[in-house]
Amino acid sequence: MLHKTIGKSSKIVIVTHKSPDGDAIGSSLGLYHFLKFLKKEVTVIVPNSFPGFLRWMPGSRQIVNFYDQSALAEELVAGANLIFVLDLNMLSRLSGLANAVRNSSAYKVLIDHHLDPENFANITISHPHISSTAEMVFRVICRMGYFNDITGESAECIYTGMMTDTGAFTYNSNNPEIYSIVSELMKKGVDKDKIYNNVYNNFTADRFRLMGYALNEKMKIYPEYGTAMIALTLDEMNRFHYKTGDTEGFSNMPLSIENIIFSVFIKEDTEKVQLSFRSHGEFPANQFASTHFGGGGHLNASGGESYVSVAETIQKFEKILPQYKEALVAEMKIN
Ligand code: 5GP
Ligand code: MN
Repeated sequence: MLHKTIGKSSKIVIVTHKSPDGDAIGSSLGLYHFLKFLKKEVTVIVPNSFPGFLRWMPGSRQIVNFYDQSALAEELVAGANLIFVLDLNMLSRLSGLANAVRNSSAYKVLIDHHLDPENFANITISHPHISSTAEMVFRVICRMGYFNDITGESAECIYTGMMTDTGAFTYNSNNPEIYSIVSELMKKGVDKDKIYNNVYNNFTADRFRLMGYALNEKMKIYPEYGTAMIALTLDEMNRFHYKTGDTEGFSNMPLSIENIIFSVFIKEDTEKVQLSFRSHGEFPANQFASTHFGGGGHLNASGGESYVSVAETIQKFEKILPQYKEALVAEMKIN
């Protein structure tokens, strides 16, 4: 079914969520290189910019950024006969691109691993138990019988998505099939050590100093709730010449502290305040985000938004936290 649709589609667009992460870019470029190999006219469009540590990826320079090139992006979406939507469960996650995609008459295929996908696509491939959308792209290509057409470049991008959505295979990564896939990708030429270096050992000194500042001066611990919170204002980030991606991973860091099972990273943006939630075990970070901060995500990694100041957002968070004491304490005992 899907392979027939691909066969008869000449113009293909791949879109993914705003503030794209390694899985968003990895899954998109993995699919992009495969479709290029099939001689398709294909473009990856992102709603806004993505971090510098993903810019080594093959094909990343061909990505169209809607924020900078909205006319071109809208023209490509309007002219497409097939649109792949990757790594998101609701069109609103496309931010400014959402309307163009919603209004397009193209055939739409959603490939994603978040819970409760919105019903907008002609084909919805949704597997919340798979740890990355990149892995799903690999599986979908294989299911269509095209394993041999996965190029080295495609394999590199798929591997990057699998690696980044599992914290380099340190969480959400207990399914043995992941490593069979990694093995197949390595046989296609993936140099996993090089990719790790490109992604995780590629930061600026400014980013490192911002991290030090955040941990040393901005991290608040709530021991009775097994919770840590870091909040940064735009002023503070600008002091360290903030660039997209510089705070990537900050939300995870406090989870390395013993007995911290819930971590919140609050970051001021130009029009809103963004929240990132991370948890260990069964504490539902996604439910916390959707109930109080209009967001969502996975059980252990979620995000949301706030439209008051950073200080008021912190107050709101601190007021909510006691409601979760029982659930948090239960996890602390297990850990
Ligand atoms: P991050 O903290 O890395 O920005 O996001 C972690 C996960 O939370 C993402 O993979 C995504 O699933 C989810 N997420 C982040 N921000 C939002 C949001 O504003 N709305 C929803 N629904 N999910 C979000
Ligand atoms: Mn993902």
